[in-house]
Amino acid sequence: MNAFQRQLAQQCGIKEAALAEISEIEERYAAAYARVDEMTNAAQLRILAAFQAENVGDFHLHGSTGYGYGDIGRDKLEEVWARVFQAESALVRSNIVSGTHAIATVLSALLGPGDELLSISGMPYDTLQTIIGESGDDPQSLKALGVRHRVVPLTADGDFDDQAILAAIGPQTKVISIQRSRGYLWRPSLNIEKIRRITSLIRDRFADIIIFVDNCYGEFVEEEEPLAAGADIIAGSLIKNPGGALAPRGGYIAGREDLVRRAATRLTAPGIAFEVGSALDFNRPAFQGLFMAPLIVQQALKGAIFASAMLENRGFAVSPGPAEWRTDIIQAIRFGAEAPLLAFAEGIQAASPLESYVHPEAAFLPGYEDAVIMAGGTFTQGSSIELSIDAPLRAPYIGYMQGGLSYAHVVYAVTLACQRLEA
Ligand SMILES: *Cc1c(COP(=O)(O)O)cnc(C)c1O
Repeated sequence: MNAFQRQLAQQCGIKEAALAEISEIEERYAAAYARVDEMTNAAQLRILAAFQAENVGDFHLHGSTGYGYGDIGRDKLEEVWARVFQAESALVRSNIVSGTHAIATVLSALLGPGDELLSISGMPYDTLQTIIGESGDDPQSLKALGVRHRVVPLTADGDFDDQAILAAIGPQTKVISIQRSRGYLWRPSLNIEKIRRITSLIRDRFADIIIFVDNCYGEFVEEEEPLAAGADIIAGSLIKNPGGALAPRGGYIAGREDLVRRAATRLTAPGIAFEVGSALDFNRPAFQGLFMAPLIVQQALKGAIFASAMLENRGFAVSPGPAEWRTDIIQAIRFGAEAPLLAFAEGIQAASPLESYVHPEAAFLPGYEDAVIMAGGTFTQGSSIELSIDAPLRAPYIGYMQGGLSYAHVVYAVTLACQRLEA
């Protein structure tokens, strides 16, 4: 027994049988673990190079107050961000309150009455359906404002349906939306290679269509980001991958300058766009979080591989499989019934650094259709780059686990949660 195993067995209540399984998983999937290192180490150097090329200094870490005119740290953060994501321009703000807000800002900036939004990766993420007007009846949804929405489902094997997409594009189609991550759906994530193929296919025939990618959970998982693969504009959340678990809130939008400017104008006001918005004390954690993000994504991805393997060992369907190519940090587990899902979620909660004493309960949340169970005691409220599991309580009871600040913590938490399944 090594020191880690001794700690697991003697202090953490992990049974000895599981210790051999942990080592066995790490050996069997060594190639998958190594690929994670390769991708995240490359991202680390890319980010370092961007900091150096932009001459980031200590004074950029301090934010202004009030209007925030001449907030050089805020401006510099956006320049670094643009460089990292190969964007002409980026908007990275703490007053983008969530990923949903970042995406809503993009869509409402780019679409007007009579325009059509075409979602080509199936029905978008739950909270986006409310923005679009596919669920609820908000008078300020895109639908209520006269924007039409159509959906092209993915093929049976989870890829873009090229012919159906080309056939669906009409004269009103202004924006095409792609969701890179699976979100709360049992489907493969859409990796960069697939995104590149479909964007070039669309671009060849429809030069003016704006291609938007919801990049939530995808940052730094693969070598490239969607803008390098042909997308025009992307958005995401800073309490997921690119905030490196240090950004306390915030969202980003990056891409073509004219489009990002429109989003900035939508976020603030005409005539203001990027120029106003004091960063207060946001710059330091945002810069440091971006720099730390590949390390955190690495820990989370290794934890996801581990969870995938351990749950597969117990006969649950998992997606992705432990050795499969990943483009996001989400690990889906099909529990098949409510009881094992709840038991596993309780185990994750009990293994958390914060609120380990809390019993997670399913609840209805704004923007979501079904009651959702969320487990994970995180330093930043609701942060899903920290270890957490979410599941809408509906058959077939799929849990979506993601995040983890340290691989050792994920190994412990998943092993403990698996023990609860057997209890
Ligand atoms: C998390 C997520 C969102 C929304 O982000 P929030 O910060 O939770 O509002 C949108 N799309 C996808 C695919 C996501 O994973």
